[in-house]
Amino acid sequence: MAARDGGFVDVALASDGRFDSDPQAIYDRWEEFRDWAHQVGLGDGAPVAPEDLGPPVPRPRQVFAAALNYRSPGSVGAPPEVPVVFTKYPSCLVGPVADVALPSALVDYEVELVVVIGRPAAAVAEREAWDHVAGVTVGQDLIDRELVSHDPTGQLCLPKSFPGFGPTGPWVLTADEPAARGELELEAILSGERMQHDTTAAMIFPVAELIARISAVCPLFAGDLLFSGTPSGIGITRDPPRYLRDGDVLVSRIGGIGEITQRFHAGP
Ligand code: ZN
Repeated sequence: MAARDGGFVDVALASDGRFDSDPQAIYDRWEEFRDWAHQVGLGDGAPVAPEDLGPPVPRPRQVFAAALNYRSPGSVGAPPEVPVVFTKYPSCLVGPVADVALPSALVDYEVELVVVIGRPAAAVAEREAWDHVAGVTVGQDLIDRELVSHDPTGQLCLPKSFPGFGPTGPWVLTADEPAARGELELEAILSGERMQHDTTAAMIFPVAELIARISAVCPLFAGDLLFSGTPSGIGITRDPPRYLRDGDVLVSRIGGIGEITQRFHAGP
């Protein structure tokens, strides 16, 4: 589906079967799709409830995520000299409205701008990086800090990848919209209290630099995701720490894109 001014269009129907109804398939033909959508115009579309939407990128081949990427006061640790990158496994992805089971009492939240790759990127220069982006969406990079505490190497991949730990959506703001590349305001509101609030201008390594640095090591595929890091205000840094609890509702919002909502439940 493609959204236009709040209305949704079934792309498979509107294109007479030229494009698949599976959103993942669109990214392999992103430029062709984007040109088609501009040419035909998508009309007004019909409303769709956010809870009926799946993740806008359901099956990326790779999901990268940057740690320690904001200069905001209260951030954990000293600013890194190179991007600190880990993976979230794609099985953790869910749509914009989700119920998530808490595997421990130490699950933390991180609102993040999530970048969707739209053209393969291998060793791209920073100045060309945005040419490889389909768009941006809202994400939560949830993490079980109890599982991290049991790993002497402190790896983040499994603790960040329980079912539902990668909610994204509600849609992709395409990179040809000037707002997608500009300064965006992020906030996370936990059961009515605003816990995180900053703008993407506070990133240590901006999106273009992250893409250049990561693609210098791993070629990126169309339809891959990049979680670009979180500003301060996460649960572990609070006094006392504030982790997610049974019944909590977390709203993560990025100005110009939209918001996603998770409700948390104790135990798997
Ligand atoms: Zn994160």
